[in-house]
Amino acid sequence: MTSPTDKSGTKTTAAPSNFLRHVIENDLAQGAYAGRTWGGSPGDAAHHAQGMPDPAKVRMRFPPEPNGYLHIGHAKSIWLNFELAKEYGGVCHLRFDDTNPEKEEQEYVDSIRDAVKWLGYETCLADRPSAPGTLQEHEYFASNYFDFMYEAAEYLIGAGLAYVDEQTPDEMRANRGDFNTPGTDSRFRTRTPEENLARFREMRDGKLDDGAAVLRAKIDMASPNINMRDPALYRIRRATHHNTGDKWCIYPMYTYAHPIEDALEQITHSICTLEFEDQRPFYDWLLDRLAEGGLVASPHPRQYEFARLNVTHVMTSKRKLRQLVEEKHVDGWDDPRMPTIAGLRRRGYTPAALQLFCERSGTTKSGGWIEYASLEAALRDILDPIAPRAMAVLDPVKLVITNWGDLMGGDNVLDDCSAPVHPHHPEMGKREFKLGRDVWIERTDYEDVQPKGFFRLFPGNKVRLKYGHVIECTGATRDADGKLVEVQATLVPDTKSGTPGADAIKVKGNITWVAAADALQAEVRLYERLFAEANPGSGELLEELNKHSLEVCTAFVEPSLAKAEPGVGIQFERHGYFVRDAKATAAGGQAVVFNRAAGMRDSWAK
Ligand code: ATP
Ligand code: MG
Repeated sequence: MTSPTDKSGTKTTAAPSNFLRHVIENDLAQGAYAGRTWGGSPGDAAHHAQGMPDPAKVRMRFPPEPNGYLHIGHAKSIWLNFELAKEYGGVCHLRFDDTNPEKEEQEYVDSIRDAVKWLGYETCLADRPSAPGTLQEHEYFASNYFDFMYEAAEYLIGAGLAYVDEQTPDEMRANRGDFNTPGTDSRFRTRTPEENLARFREMRDGKLDDGAAVLRAKIDMASPNINMRDPALYRIRRATHHNTGDKWCIYPMYTYAHPIEDALEQITHSICTLEFEDQRPFYDWLLDRLAEGGLVASPHPRQYEFARLNVTHVMTSKRKLRQLVEEKHVDGWDDPRMPTIAGLRRRGYTPAALQLFCERSGTTKSGGWIEYASLEAALRDILDPIAPRAMAVLDPVKLVITNWGDLMGGDNVLDDCSAPVHPHHPEMGKREFKLGRDVWIERTDYEDVQPKGFFRLFPGNKVRLKYGHVIECTGATRDADGKLVEVQATLVPDTKSGTPGADAIKVKGNITWVAAADALQAEVRLYERLFAEANPGSGELLEELNKHSLEVCTAFVEPSLAKAEPGVGIQFERHGYFVRDAKATAAGGQAVVFNRAAGMRDSWAK
């Protein structure tokens, strides 16, 4: 991983903490995975090992459930797994954890694939010799292991480690006990392996109704860890699965399926968020038992938990994000205010900015909230050194240079001006634009009477039209309601930027502008954080929304922006970072639409 960069662009030495590096380095030093062997029948083992060539490698995975769009929290997990794999010369699997037939859809599979690819993780995915080349061939689907999971369940039954329980849901709940009370054994717990096997096959063959029975691990109903009180392994659910269709009417539970997926792929470090800490004993129990039976390799994968990423003013519950989309509080999953990777991308975030943010947020065992401002700061730090500059007037009012015609030889004469694309990178070239008699300026750049500390336009004051000439304000016109409709000024001769003697007249104000003659009209969408509430999710969702998260303005921008491409952040001088809207651009049509990614500085406190 690259070390973080501070504000001035120099590398800082102290990398943000990531305890997982120590875990991996320790394992590698001890050769923890080098001697991995299969405990039992080697024929089966070879079959399940799927021909992975180097079991000693660090092997990570990112296992999303395809039931929604990925968000900033997933970006953290993607970054963590893929970067650790890269750093230690290993591989990382993109695995769709599609064990739940009801909520999963192809649309989500596609969007996850896009997000991982866009974030820059395509090449170090996997190293199965049978799957060279494209991202798609490197993908893993949990549902491809359903046959194995079923066989493993039969093995557990045969070994007396699992039983079919037919208590009613109410009985099951009552007998589970709680934090203070041990559970009570089910009356079905003493069934013989033969009985259990026969009954489990009847479950599989559709002889029992949905919910009539579950397969449970036989561990300890009195365990202080409720997750060890005979957790469910399989349930009956008649639902069509996106991959296996109607082949199955029983489906594995997540807690059973996930360790098996990791083991079959020979994952070394299975990283998840802290809420799974109490599941770890079952993870180990299951893989230890299956390794004893020779069904998975030993040593098996180990689970490590880290604190999930929480960002202030950001909601990361998939369910609540879905609600915002379905009730149309936002313009789809990729609305630029959404914390989805698709939304951040459309907003103007780049993969580098998200990676920098993930790195800076640290990877620890203790949670907390990261300030939204640090997300924007990461974007600015990435864009400032590379973003082309442009002038844009977001709240335009007309400025008329009344002596233009006399000085320039006619009111319609235009003067050529230019500016560097980037002030510190002459190699990026120059941008060209015109100056004429009529100019668009920001409404807030004019005042009738000078406020304290204000050095822009007021009658009698001189300012420079940035990259152009010095002008002197002579007055302004207001309509009957007092609204400013025009500002007047005169041009001061021989002051054009870049010409000899241009600095003879010193001015304190430098204002941005575009000439009416060559300005490009644009719709500019000024986005703010979607939630006013700093820690959303605690109260009524809709009341926590920021009512002012979108303001649309009709702006005039530099003509060079006609060629702006979505995905390339541009600094609108004085205003911040903007990007051409991908959706509007893809739709074609006349409108030129820009999204604000972030302001020049954090101004939320105001
Ligand atoms: P669900 O409630 O649907 O399970 P989920 O956010 O856990 O939601 P998954 O698709 O299961 O979604 O997540 C994939 C991976 O992303 C998991 O390993 C999960 O731990 C990780 N992940 C999800 N949210 C965050 C977060 N906020 N910070 C870090 N990692 C996260
Ligand atoms: Mg999950």
